[in-house]
Amino acid sequence: MDDPAVRCREALCFLSEASGIRVLRQSSFYRTEPVGFEKQDWFINAVAEIRTVLTPQELLKATQEIEDKMGRLKGARWGPRVIDLDILLYGQEVVEDDDLVIPHPELHKRRFVLQPLCEIASYAIHPVFGVSIRGLMDRLDDDSRVYLYRTSGEPCLA
Ligand code: ADP
Ligand code: MG
Repeated sequence: MDDPAVRCREALCFLSEASGIRVLRQSSFYRTEPVGFEKQDWFINAVAEIRTVLTPQELLKATQEIEDKMGRLKGARWGPRVIDLDILLYGQEVVEDDDLVIPHPELHKRRFVLQPLCEIASYAIHPVFGVSIRGLMDRLDDDSRVYLYRTSGEPCLA
């Protein structure tokens, strides 16, 4: 979209303002090549570590409220969107609900996820595979390009 890095900053601010959520750390922003549907602009991707009292389902609701607030466009699944907030991990918990799967089912396949995740939590263990994020990066078979864009700046004070 127009300025995706600004949208990411906004999303991080909304996240830190949401009740029951504290943003502990955030990765740099990465410019990433679209995967799946390639005739579109590159994305900005980033990962944040949060502490929360919300259950996984409550957290999904909170992230969806932020997506709605930011006016996410309902368009092509892999097409341009204002913001996409995904839950990658929830500690060591495994969730397999109809509308929520954690760890995120694409996490281990996507360089645009693993690279920012590796920056802030290379030691984290994928609870299904029992492999660290660094280990998943080493085994990764995804040649799509992921470039450091810039640091995400100061965390939003809320
Ligand atoms: P995607 O993120 O796969 O590009 P969407 O953001 O449109 O696609 O998500 C579609 C649905 O994925 C959401 O309505 C949500 O219920 C579901 N979903 C399942 N697991 C997760 C997860 N770990 N994080 C976020 N959404 C998830
Ligand atoms: Mg999503």
